[in-house]
Amino acid sequence: MTLLKRDPKAPQAWLGNLPVTSRYTFGLGGERFFRSIKDEGEILGTHCPKCDRTYVPSTIFCERCLGKLEEWVDVGTTGNVHTFTLLYENYDGSHREEPEIIAFVSIGDGGLVHRLGDVEPEEVEIGMEVEVVFKPKAEREGSILDIVHFRPIA
Ligand SMILES: [Zn+2]
Repeated sequence: MTLLKRDPKAPQAWLGNLPVTSRYTFGLGGERFFRSIKDEGEILGTHCPKCDRTYVPSTIFCERCLGKLEEWVDVGTTGNVHTFTLLYENYDGSHREEPEIIAFVSIGDGGLVHRLGDVEPEEVEIGMEVEVVFKPKAEREGSILDIVHFRPIA
C-alpha cells in the first residue's frame, strides 16, 4: 500500500523497537519517603501547617497553597481501605485462578495503592483497618515493593 492509497483518517502504526533506557528519580520528597521505608520501616508524610494537610507519600510542596513543606511526619504503618479491586488477570494477560486484591489505603490525607494480603476477597470491606507488612530489613531496596502488602489488623 502506498501513502496515496491509505485512508488518511485511519490511525497509523509502524511496528518496531526503540532502544530506550530511562531512569526514574523519586525527587526530594520521594527520596526521603523510600529511604525511610528501607532503613527505618517508617512511612513518612509531610504536613502543611497553613492548609493542615498531611501528604502521603511525602512531597515537598503543598498542592493547595504551593508552600514549601518542611514538617516531616511519621504517619505510622496503618491505614484504612478507601477502595479496592480484584484482579483476575496477571500483568501478562494470563488468567488468575485466585484474584489479587489491590487497594487504595488511606493514610494521612493521602495514601498508597498496594496489594492486600492475609485476607480473603470476600472479607475485604471499605474502611477496614489494615497495617503494613514490610519485607525483612536486609531484603529492602528502597522501593514501594519493600512493602509486601497491607493486611487486616487482627
Ligand atoms: Zn498548603
